[in-house]
Amino acid sequence: MILKNYINGRFAPSRYATVRPFLNPADNSEIGQVAESSIEDVETAIHAARKAFDEGPWPKTPAQERAAKLLKLAALIDSRAAQLAEFESRNNGKPLREAEYDVADAAGCFRYYAGLATKPQGQTFEVGDPNIVCQTIREPIGVCGQIIPWNYPLLMAAWKLAPGLAAGNCCILKPSELTPLSVSVLFELIDEVGFPPGVVQLVYGAGDPVGQYLAASPLVDKIAFTGGGVTGRKIMTAAASNFKKVTLELGGKSPNIVFADADQNLALEYAMFGIFAGQGEVCSAGSRLLLERSLANSFLPRLAASCEKIVVGPGLDAGTEMGPLISRAHQKKVLDYIRVAHEDGAELLCGGGVYTDQRAVGNFVQPTVFTNARPDMRIVREEIFGPVLVVQLFDTEEEALRLANDSIYGLAGGVFTSDASRAQRVVRGLRAGITWINCYHPTFNEAPWGGYKQSGIGRELGTYGYEAYTEVKQITHCINPQPLGWFKNLA
Ligand code: NAD
Repeated sequence: MILKNYINGRFAPSRYATVRPFLNPADNSEIGQVAESSIEDVETAIHAARKAFDEGPWPKTPAQERAAKLLKLAALIDSRAAQLAEFESRNNGKPLREAEYDVADAAGCFRYYAGLATKPQGQTFEVGDPNIVCQTIREPIGVCGQIIPWNYPLLMAAWKLAPGLAAGNCCILKPSELTPLSVSVLFELIDEVGFPPGVVQLVYGAGDPVGQYLAASPLVDKIAFTGGGVTGRKIMTAAASNFKKVTLELGGKSPNIVFADADQNLALEYAMFGIFAGQGEVCSAGSRLLLERSLANSFLPRLAASCEKIVVGPGLDAGTEMGPLISRAHQKKVLDYIRVAHEDGAELLCGGGVYTDQRAVGNFVQPTVFTNARPDMRIVREEIFGPVLVVQLFDTEEEALRLANDSIYGLAGGVFTSDASRAQRVVRGLRAGITWINCYHPTFNEAPWGGYKQSGIGRELGTYGYEAYTEVKQITHCINPQPLGWFKNLA
């Protein structure tokens, strides 16, 4: 299997027929090979997108027709859901049941933005002149480069393409080099729907040069990125060349706060779900558990015992509750953090290692919890992006909030309490873009997603995510034009 780019309405190998293998993280076996694009491939895609936007029909296609194509794509995703979920689990490692949710969400995302495309967009403004009608309309931004990571390959593609295409843009998607498989099926379906050439394209390949070139090109009008902060900074710097519109969805170190008055069973299960869903490779993971001190003696032993019972295995095995990490390199990074945690004096509550049985061939890491964590420790401050939970204890609501906000990140946060007033006070005190009360992780296409502080710029999903793919045009119309009389001597 060799996966090809999709450029100007056709599947094509990379210019120099270069490929790279991609792997199954459960055993590191090769699944297939994927085109490794050159700068020439990206350039071809950018020129095709430019032509499609500047001269083609797509930006002026009535919203109903754009919506119809997205609805057809959603139906096709549904029709291939089982295969898409299996591919996602095989290539990313996540348990099949999680991949099934991702596929349903991806179809839902195309449906949601198909609906939004036809809803009221502009506004009219009362201004201080009765002869003036002042309005705004929304127009597509143009050519959009969209760079996505490996943790939700299909869903991130949907989050980028659905609003971009619904709003009339021409999109060039660059997936992670590690996870091309589900996106390759998505583009088979996109080909089946039949968009005009150049409207929606796929270029595989390395972050640098492929993604970097998209971010730097003066022919690209917007860059949308999901990934790590180091990469985000490079993208923003490159995008400054022509002042591209930039949206960034970056990392997090999100606090999950459990008060003593919370339903303990609920809080326990969500503390685990918050960090171990997606093997902790989730930007919004509840990776810091802030626990009211009086709970420590009852909650922590239950947490340890429950973590030891998590069924860790290949995502495609029935009953698997947590899968392998994406790569050997990432497994090593997570294990390095575990070593640093020991060196810094944190106390291991459970996990902390790899498996020596048949899982040794994959990139598995045990569900791991550290206690006695101080705010200055690296495992408290830095994003690990793996199944490692760090517990900090607090005595008062004020202290909980202070610890929660003591981070360069501000993506998400959760609070568990039976006191509704406290719940509202605490989430309003969190400097984070996504907050949950008595739950953790539910995410909806209808509601905005994005971070405060160094967790990103802008919002995806919901109406906010659509607006991020539009320019606002002001139209000022004089309905009773009169000579101005400003210059006395008109020739
Ligand atoms: P990454 O930043 O290494 O890569 C993300 C994408 O950027 C990949 O497609 C990669 O090829 C590309 N890339 C790498 N270097 C580039 C460059 N110089 N120019 C342009 N593109 C480049 O991130 P990752 O390791 O794939 O994903 C993990 C990170 O993503 C974590 O830090 C996580 O927090 C973050 N993330 C955030 C969200 C969110 O919504 N906020 C969602 C998922 C992941």
